[in-house]
Amino acid sequence: MLKGGCFCGQIRYETTGTPFHETTCHCANCRRTTGAPSVAWFSVPRTQFRFTLGEPTRFRSTPRGTRSFCSQCGTQLTFEAEDLPTAIDVTTGSLDDPNEVPPQDQTWTRSKLSWVVLDERVPKHSASAPDR
Ligand SMILES: [Zn+2]
Ligand SMILES: [Zn+2]
Repeated sequence: MLKGGCFCGQIRYETTGTPFHETTCHCANCRRTTGAPSVAWFSVPRTQFRFTLGEPTRFRSTPRGTRSFCSQCGTQLTFEAEDLPTAIDVTTGSLDDPNEVPPQDQTWTRSKLSWVVLDERVPKHSASAPDR
């Protein structure tokens, strides 16, 4: 069981799902919606993810994607894609222990900032990973 939540504690979640597609995303949408140079994510089956406290605010960041965040402190929590209805992406940094789910690759590296140094220990993909 993985648990996490936002910075202020208003929103909490848990998942019994086994993480997959663990990645660090360098796309401009992740950057601009969080203010961070890149964002680490993991996916779990949507049916095995639930909010246990509070409800996040949702907004559509692109025609295919909806993001959620805490309306009080701003922590971004999830991403749901229209064309991947069985999965939900969760920000690794919102986990109580982000070290439990290290990124296995890096995506959208063609959009990365010039001063960001990529992690040579894991594969990099110029856009989304081939299996996604
Ligand atoms: Zn919060
Ligand atoms: Zn992204």
